Amino acid sequence: MYYEAAEGLARESLDKLQTERLRRVVATCLRSPFYSHRLGELKLTPDDFNSPDDIRKLPFTTKQDLRDNYPYGFLCQPMDQYVRLHASSGTTGTPTAIFYTQNDVDSWAALVARCMYGVGLRKGDVFQNMSGYGLFTGGLGIHYGAERLGCLTVPAGAGNSKRQLKLLSDFHVTGVHIIPSYALYFSGFLKSEGVDPHSLDWRIALIGAEPHTEEARRRIEELLGVKAYNSYGMTELNGPGVAFECQQQAGMHVWEDAYIPEIIDPKTGEHVAEGEVGELVMTTLCREGMPLLRYRTRDLTRFIPGPCACGRTHRRIDRITGRADDMLIIKGCNIYPMQIEQALMSLPEVAHNYLIEIFKEGVMDQLRVKVEIKDDYFVEDMRVLTALQKKIASRLRDEILVTPRVELVQHESIPKSEGKAVRVVDLRDKE
Ligand code: ADP
Ligand code: ZN
Repeated sequence: MYYEAAEGLARESLDKLQTERLRRVVATCLRSPFYSHRLGELKLTPDDFNSPDDIRKLPFTTKQDLRDNYPYGFLCQPMDQYVRLHASSGTTGTPTAIFYTQNDVDSWAALVARCMYGVGLRKGDVFQNMSGYGLFTGGLGIHYGAERLGCLTVPAGAGNSKRQLKLLSDFHVTGVHIIPSYALYFSGFLKSEGVDPHSLDWRIALIGAEPHTEEARRRIEELLGVKAYNSYGMTELNGPGVAFECQQQAGMHVWEDAYIPEIIDPKTGEHVAEGEVGELVMTTLCREGMPLLRYRTRDLTRFIPGPCACGRTHRRIDRITGRADDMLIIKGCNIYPMQIEQALMSLPEVAHNYLIEIFKEGVMDQLRVKVEIKDDYFVEDMRVLTALQKKIASRLRDEILVTPRVELVQHESIPKSEGKAVRVVDLRDKE
């Protein structure tokens, strides 16, 4: 382990550390305009926190709170202490900005380095960051972590597959960070260039920043000839480095010396039973510039019960199934886009990209799934295509309990965005 002392801490010691840090972070928060008001009203002080469980005394913080107090309402330090800001990509509305002091940048880099070490990257590895830079944390966040670990770091940025390939091969890159949807796209690019992925030196890919299924991970591993590890984070909690798979690939360890994770029922706000799915709520324990208390991530997951074979004691969360606000309600059924991905990726005829469209027919909401088909299966015989269409629709029905319209489209005909994949389009006002 990279930080043996921290990553292998026994539960009691972790509890003790979390309690100390919880008290410290509450004290820090009292310096921000937002929290001094919020905690002041409730008359909460650091002395009210004597165990990690006391966290329940705190109110939640929401994305709306961040928006309402944009840009500076959450800052706990004098302005001249800040050296960096990032902003969420705004997938779900107005962006939110997060500010970092030098200590915050340093401790974040250490967390990312820890994740990278955990999947087998070492000083001396050559690491290519194939995700966008700029305000998106997947750029500089991963970059500083890789440098901290001692990797020769190639800041390739997103897109431009030809150049990516040249960098990968010229510098004998051994590890990459790549968004899953781009990884799948890139596998097609390698094929079209006639490049055998096994001829490259890469062996490890960090994949994250967007929801993806186990099926998608297996495809990435097979098609790129690498081991792929799930990386979870969000701008509000620094960016990447919040939770990460270890080499067991059996859930993501949440770094509990830096965060207190909780999983709640989004409706009641109460903790769900151990192992049940709910909304992930996170408290930052080490941030001094802009700590967040009980931040509602809106991401759905569950704690994986029991210890991990790797020996790390920090609790694991399961693959994120989606954001609470990703849920589609069609004909009375609750549907998450990842259920659709899971069904599609289990079919060998299906290529890597798809698009979910919601439209109105009369008063009813309807679902249409555009599915890219691998070239070998995209034949001229209508009967074959119709049978395939039916097969996909029925596989989807088994998963989501609604039969969607299925439209088969040619490989790589769905427009590909450079950043996170757009999986759902709402046409209800447009058709
Ligand atoms: P935005 O919220 O604008 O997309 P972020 O880059 O902060 O900006 O995105 C964070 C979100 O991305 C998370 O809340 C989560 O929904 C998603 N995400 C990040 N990593 C993963 C992952 N490994 N698996 C699933 N979803 C992820
Ligand atoms: Zn582990």
